[in-house]
Amino acid sequence: MGYLKSTPDANGFFGEYGGAELPPPLVPHFREIHEAYLRISHSAEFIRDLRYIRKHYQGRPTPVSYLKNLSDDCGGAQIYAKREDLNHTGAHKLNHCMAEALLAKFMGKTKLMAETGAGQHGVALATAAAYFDMECEIHMGEIDIAKEAPNVTRMKLLGANVVPVSFGGRSLKEAVDSCFQSYVAQAETALFAIGSVVGPHPFPMMVRDFQHVVGVEAREQFLEMTGQLPDMVAACVGGGSNAMGIFSGFIEDDVALYGVEPLGTSSNLGDHAASITYGEDGDIHGFRTLVLKDAEGNPAPVHTVASGLDYPGVGPEHAHLHKTGRVTYTTADDKEALDAFYRLSRREGIIPALESAHAVAFALREARANPGKSILINLSGRGDKDIDFVTETYGFGTD
Ligand SMILES: *Cc1c(COP(=O)(O)O)cnc(C)c1O
Repeated sequence: MGYLKSTPDANGFFGEYGGAELPPPLVPHFREIHEAYLRISHSAEFIRDLRYIRKHYQGRPTPVSYLKNLSDDCGGAQIYAKREDLNHTGAHKLNHCMAEALLAKFMGKTKLMAETGAGQHGVALATAAAYFDMECEIHMGEIDIAKEAPNVTRMKLLGANVVPVSFGGRSLKEAVDSCFQSYVAQAETALFAIGSVVGPHPFPMMVRDFQHVVGVEAREQFLEMTGQLPDMVAACVGGGSNAMGIFSGFIEDDVALYGVEPLGTSSNLGDHAASITYGEDGDIHGFRTLVLKDAEGNPAPVHTVASGLDYPGVGPEHAHLHKTGRVTYTTADDKEALDAFYRLSRREGIIPALESAHAVAFALREARANPGKSILINLSGRGDKDIDFVTETYGFGTD
């Protein structure tokens, strides 16, 4: 059996990582979600509806672009980008949000709920809720609400109810806790639409499968453009959904895969969010994975210039692919990501999300060292959300 069909196992384990550690009242609801997913993933009607949405609403397939100017500048490998920035709402997140919403609809649910950090997942889910005429409840820390005002405005325009979270650190971790609490009371009628390949089984598998389209398209497009497969494929890793999307298209090929984690301002604990590179085995939000821990063993504070990568854990499949060696995990720091943000904007006319800029930084570094090779990166999102922060903090770049 191929890798994707055989992984995870029936209990949601990718090797020793994953699983579902749930509060007892939620166990039957996650079982219901799992059973519904297994049913619909073989349903011709579900597959047809999802294809229709991707083509006529999201704007898929997104293209692969050859980055000629960057490739010429580096004088080494040829660099290509899968353009997930051209999805409706500007990132890959709508791939799984539309599918999760369609699943909720098939299950007879009337409401979608989720936590959000910087607001990107909240906006994508609110978009899906509007499309499917469902209610939407988004939990968001008060600190993030103050920092990410435009995304809060977007969610409200799209009709979502944004619930401010005012306890603890008032950020992403507390938003997850708050959303779980609220979900327990509404699990009959609502679906908790988790925003990456994280959380209890079946979400890491389901979200990967919903993002698989990225890798399938990219493989076919790259073959058509060049007559060959790429030598290297790279993506940034926060929770890990855009990376699993593109990796899953090449996982059974002889193609080197690279996950790029955010190294923030330094390798000291608290200055980065590189959970695979520096983490240890542990549990977070109901699943087993690699976790950045403080001295007491709790999830440590994390930092990166890209708030979408700011998570002290990572999807369990990435922990597994690290352990087996099928994927190589490396890092790019804030400075490299910012440099890549300016370079891609100036040289190719594409302003990337700061998250995606970590993958661009990897390509710039590796292209020089790999003449004659080809590198395909997943450009997970566009940078419109980041331009005010970047230019007010760092100016307009130097070259
Ligand atoms: C949310 C986000 C990410 C990080 O999420 P993954 O699950 O790691 O893909 C990366 N890029 C963009 C543009 C995002 O919005």
